[in-house]
Amino acid sequence: MVRYVYDFTEGGRDMAGLLGGKGANLAEMTRLGLPVPPGFVVSTEACRAFLTGGAEPEGMSREIARHLTALEDGAGRLLGQPDDPLLLSVRSGARFSMPGMMETVLDIGLSDASVLGLAKVSGSERFAWDSYRRLVQMFGSTVMGVDGTLFENAMARLKELRGVRDDLHLDAGDLAELVETYKDIILDVTGAHFPQSPTEQLRRAVLAVFRSWNGERARLYRRREHIPDDLGTAVTVQRMVFGNLGPDSGSGVAFTRDPATGRPGLYGDYLSNAQGEDVVAGIRNTVPLTDLERLDPVSYRQLLAHMRILENHYRDLCDIEFTIERGRLWMLQTRVGKRTAEAAFTIAAQLTDEGLITPDESLARLSGDGLARLMFPRFDTSATGRALAHGLPASPGAAVGAAVFDSAEAVRRAEAGEQVVLVRQETTPDDLPGMVAAQAVLTSRGGKTSHAAVVARGMGKVCVCGAEELTVDPVARRFTTRDGTVVEEGIVISVDGSAGAVYPGAAPLVDSAVMRHLETGEQGEDAPGVVDAVARALRHADGVRRLQVRANADTPEDAARARRFGAQGIGLCRTEHMFLGERRKLVEQMILAHDETARAQALDALLPLQREDFAGILAAMDGLPVTIRLLDPPLHEFLPDRTGLAVRIATAEARGERPDPHDTELLDAVGRMHEENPMLGLRGVRLGLVVPGLVAMQVRAIAEAVVQRIRAGGSPKAEIMVPLVGAVEELRIEREEVERVLAEVSEETGVAVSCPVGTMIELPRAALTAGKIAEQAEFFSFGTNDLTQTTWGFSRDDVEAAFFSAYLDKGIFATSPFETLDRDGVGRLVRIAVDEGRAARPGLKIGVCGEHGGDPDSVHFFHTAGLDYVSCSPFRIPVARLEAGRAAL
Ligand code: PEP
Ligand code: MG
Repeated sequence: MVRYVYDFTEGGRDMAGLLGGKGANLAEMTRLGLPVPPGFVVSTEACRAFLTGGAEPEGMSREIARHLTALEDGAGRLLGQPDDPLLLSVRSGARFSMPGMMETVLDIGLSDASVLGLAKVSGSERFAWDSYRRLVQMFGSTVMGVDGTLFENAMARLKELRGVRDDLHLDAGDLAELVETYKDIILDVTGAHFPQSPTEQLRRAVLAVFRSWNGERARLYRRREHIPDDLGTAVTVQRMVFGNLGPDSGSGVAFTRDPATGRPGLYGDYLSNAQGEDVVAGIRNTVPLTDLERLDPVSYRQLLAHMRILENHYRDLCDIEFTIERGRLWMLQTRVGKRTAEAAFTIAAQLTDEGLITPDESLARLSGDGLARLMFPRFDTSATGRALAHGLPASPGAAVGAAVFDSAEAVRRAEAGEQVVLVRQETTPDDLPGMVAAQAVLTSRGGKTSHAAVVARGMGKVCVCGAEELTVDPVARRFTTRDGTVVEEGIVISVDGSAGAVYPGAAPLVDSAVMRHLETGEQGEDAPGVVDAVARALRHADGVRRLQVRANADTPEDAARARRFGAQGIGLCRTEHMFLGERRKLVEQMILAHDETARAQALDALLPLQREDFAGILAAMDGLPVTIRLLDPPLHEFLPDRTGLAVRIATAEARGERPDPHDTELLDAVGRMHEENPMLGLRGVRLGLVVPGLVAMQVRAIAEAVVQRIRAGGSPKAEIMVPLVGAVEELRIEREEVERVLAEVSEETGVAVSCPVGTMIELPRAALTAGKIAEQAEFFSFGTNDLTQTTWGFSRDDVEAAFFSAYLDKGIFATSPFETLDRDGVGRLVRIAVDEGRAARPGLKIGVCGEHGGDPDSVHFFHTAGLDYVSCSPFRIPVARLEAGRAAL
């Protein structure tokens, strides 16, 4: 038979699914022998049955009646008994905490008759009428649907009439009058009387709490917090205890350690002569919990003892709500408390030292997201003004600088020592120098995998992208916010890349000691607890993880930094970033060359530059693998903009001048190479197959750099990776060319150069034919950015701004698949490729170098999918190390 109601003595903390967090923990405290007012829980199962069936589930009210009788027997009085009423609280309590989102009704059992009894036994008429007033108000709004402001207005009118400001100055007579007014309001609005029957009050309050699961507030909250909609809430019914019975009573909240810093000690607030709701509502000023020692030493010592019991039992920081009723301490709630990232790391280390948890448990309680928050400077949020705009939090951290509207201006001002924020509609590779020079990048368009976001994350630079509320005008050199505020070039703004917000002026910054430690390797012996705690957590993670962690880096500086952060090699060196700036002209020449000689000249000029790039990176990563990817993006990205050229030519013609022949030639070439969908066009391995000499130049540069390093006594470990392969034939042909050049250089130099040749798996066809492709590939690396784009058919550059917010709202996905790997779809392709690749080539080394390589949830997936390594931007390496460790637990 289904059972819907459980006494506190029958439950425990592991029953939160059925009894809700609050109910389960009350049951646990009861079992621990702590002073909990007796009560019972109506289960989430009853709630689900009620919400789906639309009626009270069969047998529930009988069960409630039975438990009520037991409660009454224990108390020696009846619910609402006129001369000495037992009163109850009815509270919501879901599996996951949803603070303030659902309903509560207190003082159930009061009526016109029992209020008089309560006045007599409590010795306070005012207290009795105030309790009745609270019940009628809460019941009226929560259960009977009366607009709460009607009650508040009535109270305000009465206070005005009496000339008092504080509720405390209304006397018993006033409150009795207010009860009558409230009852009239209820009758007026609903046409029904406030129910005098205590059991009817109880029954209706329970159902109202059930219904509040589907209230608008609760539904919105669940969507934001990714809490499933079908869990339902439990209802905790408990004997009321009163903290508002005089100066020897009161209510408080307490933490077993400081939830902000993790420091051990007693933290909390206390309010004398008040109910718990008054503490939370902040109507009156609380005192620090330590003052309780003076006010009520006996209760204080008991509370300390109870808190120690709870922390030892839960083996974690607990937060507690308690009430003292006439000198008697009651525990009303506990749970494992929420905490900041700093406190999470510090407490995990302390509890390990105290022997309460093992190092593995300690690691399991931490999170990469938390670590990421600790790694960047933060704004002191108490000091930021109202945000100018919000966008996507694309790259975390906080930065302040003068708004500038193009790359050149950013560079110019930065060179003059000014801190700047580069503001663009969206960025292109041309903006790279400006991005390097700026403290932060702000764009009005583009998603979390837009150019701005990916590049900024790679550089560890603060970025907010897709701030659509902004109109960026690069010509007038200003942006305008939705409310019409204009920010001209040179005006200082603050960008919060962790929250996705932009503030006016310079918000005060708090530096990150954790980042300093990770960057410089300071051991943090005498550093604050959190630095040491992070270092210990990472050491433990490194000891247990199976996944290796590599970096996506394409400069010697990034490579060196990545190594300091603990990278075990480079998983992706994107060579296209080496073709910008001055070298762009050479690339242009190579593309436009009319004959072999001209092309060879351009390639010859590029060769030594590339060789030095690689030599620098191989030196920084000496002894560790460095995967260098052959050129990937569409070639026209290296040519000038088509419209700009056309305008230049047309202007010259309009003036009767002869257009620059170089411009005409360029326009011709750009026109020839134009593609409607360049991301699906001439890029990746296709480039290598159709642009003569390109692959040979790049491979020669790699091989010669290897020789140079070997001759210098180094231990270079270059690996060559071919992008965007869809068919094994593509790889076979390209690989022949690679090996031909490697052999050539070995022959010329007398130094044997051998580099493994592998491929990226970033097209569904590559994943589905991985067995075949593995015959030609010595390693795989999943390019999950492109693989997500091509599996879903979402353009990685456009979709997030275009419709992702609607998709998130409709719950089609909970996070962008470009951020967290879509396990069901893209993940399935990954698994197929891993299985078939390794079946064809046992021991095949497999990694991932898409953005997902640094995403906590995705790292867990790659661990279970059996990958050998993840590769991510340097600043995410500590996060990936931590999560790879957690995945292995
Ligand atoms: C990828 O597609 O996941 C990848 C790493 O390559 P890119 O982002 O350079 O296309
Ligand atoms: Mg790619």
